[in-house]
Amino acid sequence: MKIFLDGKYVDEAQATISVFDHGVLYGDGIFEGIRAYNGRVFRLDEHIDRLFMAATAICLVIPYTKKEMAEIIVNTCKINNLSDCYVRLVITRGKGDLGISPTKCPKPTTFCIATSIALYTTEMYENGIAVITAMQRRNKPSTIDPQIKSLNYLNNILAKIEANRLGAPEALMLNHDGIVCEATGDNVYIVKDNVVYTPPIYVGCLDGITRKVIIECCEKLGIKICERQFTLFNVYNADECFLSGTAAEAIAVTSVDGRTIGTGKCGPITAKILEAFRAYAKTEECGTKIQ
Ligand code: PMP
Repeated sequence: MKIFLDGKYVDEAQATISVFDHGVLYGDGIFEGIRAYNGRVFRLDEHIDRLFMAATAICLVIPYTKKEMAEIIVNTCKINNLSDCYVRLVITRGKGDLGISPTKCPKPTTFCIATSIALYTTEMYENGIAVITAMQRRNKPSTIDPQIKSLNYLNNILAKIEANRLGAPEALMLNHDGIVCEATGDNVYIVKDNVVYTPPIYVGCLDGITRKVIIECCEKLGIKICERQFTLFNVYNADECFLSGTAAEAIAVTSVDGRTIGTGKCGPITAKILEAFRAYAKTEECGTKIQ
C-alpha cells in the first residue's frame, strides 16, 4: 500500500509523523472520509469544498490548491490500483512545540490513505440495526461546531463507547435541548406518514455529503423530504428510521432504545432510497474518474 505523505507516495512503514505533530498532541487538524465506486471518486468536489471550509473555520491554511488536493486523492487510488475503496485524507496543524499555540507550527502535515472499510455486516444491511441513544450530548455549535470534521472525535467516540457497552453498533446523539442530531458517524432520518425527516444542520450535525445525495434521491423518487427538528418521541413513533454516511453508506435502524421502529424490518421507503443511492453510486455522474 502506498500512502501520500507531504508530497510523496511512500510505503506504510515510511508513512510516519512526528510525536510533536499537533494533530497527535491536540487533535488539531481536519479530515475527510471519501469513497470511490466503480473507478470514480464519489462527489469529490464536495468533499474538497467541505475540507476547505473546515480549514477556514480552524484557521488552517491547506498547503495545496483544491485542484491539487483532488489530484492527490485520485492519484492515491490510482497508485494502489483501487477502483472501489475508502479514502482518508488528513491535514494536521503540523509539527510544533508542546504548547497548544499553532503559531509554532509552520507547516501542516497532509496524508492520504486509500483502503477498504466495512462498518457493518451484510446481515445488518439486510435486516437493519438496533441502536441506542447516548447520554453524551453532541458538541454545541457554540463550542466546537459539529460542521467541522476535526481530528477531535472524542465527543462521538464517547457516544460510541456507550453503544458498545450496551451491545449496540451505533448511538444516536442529541443536542443539549434533546433534539436528535445524528449518529456518531452518520446522519439520521425518520419516515412518518410517507414523509422523510432529517434534522437541520444547525441543531448540531455534520453537513453530510451522503445526506445531500439522499435528499436528491428522495426528490428524484418523488418522496417528500424535509429538514425538521425532532425528538426521541418522534423517533420511537416513526414508521421507519435510517442512517447515512460515507463509510456506512445507508442502513436501516429497526430499533432504538429497545423500542421497535415500525414493523421492525427495513421499511419500504428506506429500501427504495437505499436502492436509488446504490444505483446512483454506480453511475458516471456520481464522481470524478480515477484515470
Ligand atoms: N456525521 C458525522 C459525525 C460523521 O462523522 C459523518 C461522516 N462519517 C457523517 C455524519 C456523514 O457524513 P458524510 O455523508 O459526508 O460521510
